[in-house]
Amino acid sequence: MEIEHNIEKALERSGRAREDILLLAVTKTQSIEQMKEAMEEGFFHFGENRVQELMEKYEAFPEKIQWHLIGHLQTNKVKYIIDKVDMIQAVDSLRLAEEIEKRAVLANKKVDILIEINIAKESSKFGLLAEELENFLLTVSKMEHLCIKGLMTVAPFVENAEENRKYFQEMRELLVDMNGKKIHNVCMEELSMGMTNDYMVAIEEGATIVRVGTAIFGARAYQ
Ligand SMILES: *Cc1c(COP(=O)(O)O)cnc(C)c1O
Repeated sequence: MEIEHNIEKALERSGRAREDILLLAVTKTQSIEQMKEAMEEGFFHFGENRVQELMEKYEAFPEKIQWHLIGHLQTNKVKYIIDKVDMIQAVDSLRLAEEIEKRAVLANKKVDILIEINIAKESSKFGLLAEELENFLLTVSKMEHLCIKGLMTVAPFVENAEENRKYFQEMRELLVDMNGKKIHNVCMEELSMGMTNDYMVAIEEGATIVRVGTAIFGARAYQ
């Protein structure tokens, strides 16, 4: 697969190993049939951005599939997916973190989360500003059913992926910086950044999860 070849090249340039990277198959709008084919090719982590769609597809797959919610999550929908998702990637408010904690207590489980950062300060995007992160971590790290695994960002849509390199670098610096604060319960390792247009640059700059849809499945057909 071309994408695996590209990942290998990006890893070579940055001296990292393939097992350091999760290639998350973004399956939104893709049919169950297409997803089963992807599973046969070895994809076991699926990323969906809508609760409704994730719930519709969930039952069709075996236990070993891991589900990542990668889109903005409304607090009133947490209850529907709390027992289904392996990672909630886009925690973007205290209210949402509190609701996940509450539902995780009820479900008696620990939930892996990533905190979404609006690294380019785009008004159209969700996520915390980098300067809000430390205070946020001080509060959320006290929620005992949340495991803060790292940070996530949706970088700007650009023609040339190089334009996003600086944002990926800032994300990595932010992660290192926050780990250096030695906040109790905060030791973050994951950096979810990079999509079809820019996953190679993201890997070169330290991504551990790249979220790729189009380059795996082809262009999405929206109804
Ligand atoms: C759709 C989506 C992706 C994947 O986008 P592609 O450009 O198709 O790779 C990644 N992350 C999020 C949050 C998405 O909504």
